Amino acid sequence: MIKKVGVVGAGMMGAEIALCFEKAGYPTVLNDISMELARKGVEKQDKVMSKSISKGKMTEEEKEAALRLVTPSADYEDLKDCDLIIEAALENLEVKLGIFEELDKICKPETIFCSNTSSISITKLSSAVGEARKARFLGTHFNSPASVMKLVEVIPGLLTDKERADEVYDLLASIEKEPVRVKDVVGFGLNRIFHCMYGEAMRLIEEGVCTPEDVDKICKYGLGHPMGICALLDITGHDLNLAVDQIMFEGYGERFRPSPVIQRMVDAGNLGRKSGKGFYDYTDKK
Ligand code: NAD
Repeated sequence: MIKKVGVVGAGMMGAEIALCFEKAGYPTVLNDISMELARKGVEKQDKVMSKSISKGKMTEEEKEAALRLVTPSADYEDLKDCDLIIEAALENLEVKLGIFEELDKICKPETIFCSNTSSISITKLSSAVGEARKARFLGTHFNSPASVMKLVEVIPGLLTDKERADEVYDLLASIEKEPVRVKDVVGFGLNRIFHCMYGEAMRLIEEGVCTPEDVDKICKYGLGHPMGICALLDITGHDLNLAVDQIMFEGYGERFRPSPVIQRMVDAGNLGRKSGKGFYDYTDKK
């Protein structure tokens, strides 16, 4: 039975993933490499909920109740009594393997391990843990912003117990997410669709057919997307976009060739919102 949830990596995804569980009443531990970063994650949760309050979607009391449930942490030992751990650290194989190897030594045998990786094979990540844990190891791919977006891809690895994947699926459904079961293939389901569409949008820009602003208008007013692709890519960050592109290219070849538009922005340090500039200028919003 899952009663306490740990999240490793208190960045853009981790802070909001933990928040999804706090809002549903689960005590959480939000872990990062320093207390400063872990606390920043909690501050982010506070900001996200204040925004919801200003829109009338949440009360001050609900926010306080959620914040009482989170414990910031900079020590994996704090995760030892968690029943479910979701890793949302950097998109780097070595970093993730190192985290899971450490956690495997510390956590209870029953604890389920999940990774929020966008692109790394779940089966490959599970090689970091002992044989018994491999059956309790799967992918849970949340979308950004994780406290708002309902989709979570649930990805069993080759050695995952069906029962454990079902348990996580049911838990996510119970906290008002819309989980989908996806096989452990490169890019899972969402990135196969998204990178295909976004690659074509980048070709339109590269060929001078339309501007980023017009690409976004097509998405919003023609396809009914809540936000344009360029605005969305600025939020995810072009370093991460490029890293995932490269993995998709390795997995599927030509149809996912990384776009020179994204490569140039990364070369220029224009990583999107986090650097203050991407397709759009955010210097006054930093
Ligand atoms: P981020 O850079 O905002 O946050 C990562 C956090 O992990 C940082 O705070 C970093 O200090 C921390 N970290 C690094 N090494 C650690 C360690 N050893 N132990 C504990 N914490 C550590 O990254 P993000 O955008 O939140 O992405 C996190 C994961 O989620 C990645 O695997 C990414 O591919 C995936 N993801 C991201 C998005 C997105 O839109 N950004 C969407 C879906 C999935």
